[in-house]
Amino acid sequence: PDTNSKSKALYDRALSSLPGGNTRTTVFMKPYPIYAARGAGCRVWDVDGNELIDCINNFTSLIHGHAHPALVEAATRQLALGSAFGMPTESEINLAELLTARLPSVDQVRFANSGTEAVMMALKAARAFTGRPKIAKCEGAYHGSYDYAEVSLDPKPTDWGGNAPVSVAYAKGTPDKVLADVVTIPFNDIDGAVSLIREHGRDLACVLVDPMPNRAGLVPADKAYLEALRQATRDVGALLIFDEVISFRLGYHGAQGLWGIDPDLTTLGKIIGGGFPVGAIAGKSEVMAVFDPRHGKPALPHGGTFSANPVTMRAGLAAMELLDQNAFARLDAIGEAVRKGINDAFRRHGVPGTAVGLGSLLKLHFGERPIRDYRSAYMSEAETKRQSVFNLEFLNRGVLAAGYGLMALSLPMRDADIESIIRAASDALAQVASKT
Ligand code: PMP
Repeated sequence: PDTNSKSKALYDRALSSLPGGNTRTTVFMKPYPIYAARGAGCRVWDVDGNELIDCINNFTSLIHGHAHPALVEAATRQLALGSAFGMPTESEINLAELLTARLPSVDQVRFANSGTEAVMMALKAARAFTGRPKIAKCEGAYHGSYDYAEVSLDPKPTDWGGNAPVSVAYAKGTPDKVLADVVTIPFNDIDGAVSLIREHGRDLACVLVDPMPNRAGLVPADKAYLEALRQATRDVGALLIFDEVISFRLGYHGAQGLWGIDPDLTTLGKIIGGGFPVGAIAGKSEVMAVFDPRHGKPALPHGGTFSANPVTMRAGLAAMELLDQNAFARLDAIGEAVRKGINDAFRRHGVPGTAVGLGSLLKLHFGERPIRDYRSAYMSEAETKRQSVFNLEFLNRGVLAAGYGLMALSLPMRDADIESIIRAASDALAQVASKT
């Protein structure tokens, strides 16, 4: 740590007006976080002038990197016309039409301001539609901060109970009644998940699943697992909700297109806002009708002062239009190259570990065993040590990734950038080999 650092000075100042100097737990770092000054393409510069290749892209939300000219132009043109109105604008129809055209299961869309809100409204829509109280979600999967959605996000081995997951509070203060209405199911375990869905079937409004849950290890769901969830939810009359807040960046038709699954509702966020705050609930007209105000108070009223604001809508549309089939092919290729490069480096340096993921997303694990779900991804002390040495060494070699090992690549990355990322990872792994 450099005591003359401008980041450190900013952090010291932040400590009195922000709790722990912080607004987002995810961007906190010890001894102090690095403050961003600006970004362009796949690079960010911090307030001390250090240049970094950005492999986190605001936690997967920027797929065109920073300050893409088309997005800057779309947003600023709208800013000059007014940023938000107490009226709808054409821009929300344009983005909704693009999303319904791309996502096979989606007839209609409802916009919100974050992924958290999108998941909250999707769960409430499922309850309103079915008249049932419970929701099911996978152990270790992150879906934002709604009380029900964050249950069993990070249970410790001492709280695992037996084979079947149990519902464990994530945040202090979570009411027991919330835990009682959340059925925690195992990821990638058909028998375990289906038997719980059957057991709670009559009370179950929905099953919420991320097809490649980042916090639960970023391993893709087995197709058979998702098919089993689809079948079991149909059998018990519950909805299947795909959380594609992150996974929509995996393919032109989303993760549901890649896996060939037909969910009832889909939640979106991140990339669809072109770098601005966004969320969306999308799905079958029959279910989306809970929001329809034409016949008086809807089953599920939903507003949001900034929902569908035209700056987000126009930037989002510009971002999505740039994201054509070729763009996805390029993202797949660079993701493959980085995963392979890092996996080769793990072997070369004799460090136990793997890079997992799909498309433009990857995550590093520091153990030998195959990763299938939250429990197999759970790190031992030795693995945590290797990860923390790696993170610091990777950052010192000019690459920004998430503290918990997630990386999200972006379209502005050229072959030379990909090589730099792999070289930095390899050099960081050499340090892990010598220091742990
Ligand atoms: N769902 C998933 C799968 C997410 O990864 C996230 C955020 N990382 C959310 C929901 C919540 O989105 P937001 O941070 O926009 O509230």
